[in-house]
Amino acid sequence: MNFELTKEQEMTRKMVRDFADGVIRPRAIEIDQKAEFPEDIFKEMGQLGLLGIPFPEEYGGAGGDTVTYALAVEEIGKVCGSTGLSYAAAVSLGASPIYYFGTEDQKQEFLIPLAKGEGLASFGLTEPNAGSDAGGTKTRAELQGDHYVINGEKCWITNAEYARSITVTAVSGKRDDGKNIISAFIIPKDTPGMKITSPYEKMGVRGSNTSEIILEDVRVPKQNILGDPTGGFKQFLYTLDGGRISIGALAVGIAQASLDKALAYAKERKQFGQSISNFQAIQFKLADMAMEVELARNMVLKAAWLKDQKKNFSKEAAYAKLFASETSFRSANQAIQIHGGYGYMQEYEVERYLRDAKLLEIGEGTSEIQRLVIARQLGC
Ligand SMILES: Cc1cc2nc3c(=O)[nH]c(=O)nc-3n(C[C@H](O)[C@H](O)[C@H](O)COP(=O)(O)OP(=O)(O)OC[C@H]3O[C@@H](n4cnc5c(N)ncnc54)[C@H](O)[C@@H]3O)c2cc1C
Repeated sequence: MNFELTKEQEMTRKMVRDFADGVIRPRAIEIDQKAEFPEDIFKEMGQLGLLGIPFPEEYGGAGGDTVTYALAVEEIGKVCGSTGLSYAAAVSLGASPIYYFGTEDQKQEFLIPLAKGEGLASFGLTEPNAGSDAGGTKTRAELQGDHYVINGEKCWITNAEYARSITVTAVSGKRDDGKNIISAFIIPKDTPGMKITSPYEKMGVRGSNTSEIILEDVRVPKQNILGDPTGGFKQFLYTLDGGRISIGALAVGIAQASLDKALAYAKERKQFGQSISNFQAIQFKLADMAMEVELARNMVLKAAWLKDQKKNFSKEAAYAKLFASETSFRSANQAIQIHGGYGYMQEYEVERYLRDAKLLEIGEGTSEIQRLVIARQLGC
């Protein structure tokens, strides 16, 4: 076994770390407070090639691997959960399904601009009455001549307001056994009938755009169906497996940031005539945080490595997402505790880490759903 990063992986991590520290970090508090999507930052990330890290050069990408991409998400997540979430969603949920399942024409038209960072994409699965039970989708797509006509509603879709294309799932027919066939469709932005609004006031990841999509007689050409017309359900399960690695990486970033802030503060803060880092109660919290961050990172990178080796990574991605997101929440909570009253104040940032980390236990499959995925893999 070799736990060393390659030279390319090290270089990309350093480049992303420098960018995150120099450009995103100074804006992180404001992005959260104003709940403003940092469109200009995403333009710069696109120019740096960050949006194309895991895609081949022939499709406008950087030809990197999943490990490199996970390192990049961690670095961005470490300074800003909102930017990290929008980045992870743009690559793992927006662009990746087109890369995995798209036809050559679809890759040329939709993937290349995304990988080059000329725009973002979204993945619309969740509906008001179909969350964890995504198979219960009510959105319908009906074939009329050369077009599909789509009607329905999607909620909480990351980046949709800023997306150049949105892939949505819809019921497109019935199997012989009476079950719904679910397909995925690529809908270009500005297609008539698609209304996107962002009406939500969120607890955390406030600078990540979260949108509602109403689809009213949206017509897309037949050729915009993604991959196997009868395999939309399997495709999105695979897409979510990949996405879980990036949510795990984002969680590691927030957990690491919590540890860094808590450690620095503990050394600096004096009570009873000494640094609070001299108290064993504080040391034990920091020791647990450091151990859990490292374990979470190892699990995320293992899942990413398995994906890169084209091995089965579904269970490991669930382990990584579950453990890292719960670690992230615990670490942020402990960081607040170590900061005492100051931790409760926005200025010290750790309260933002907690609010951002909470989303990671919910999005792309809740913690309960991750445990179900793992239990199924165990043969339950
Ligand atoms: C900020 C944000 C961004 C998001 N971005 C996207 C996006 O880009 N694209 C997208 O498609 N979706 C997105 N989502 C939706 C997200 O994936 C869903 O919120 C998530 O899958 C859970 O669905 P739900 O909220 O409907 O909860 P529900 O499914 O209603 O679950 C409610 C509770 O019941 C539990 N539960 C449900 N079923 C079971 C079961 N079988 N066994 C045990 N417990 C169960 C859940 O774990 C949870 O605790 C986003 C959500 C948020 C908040």
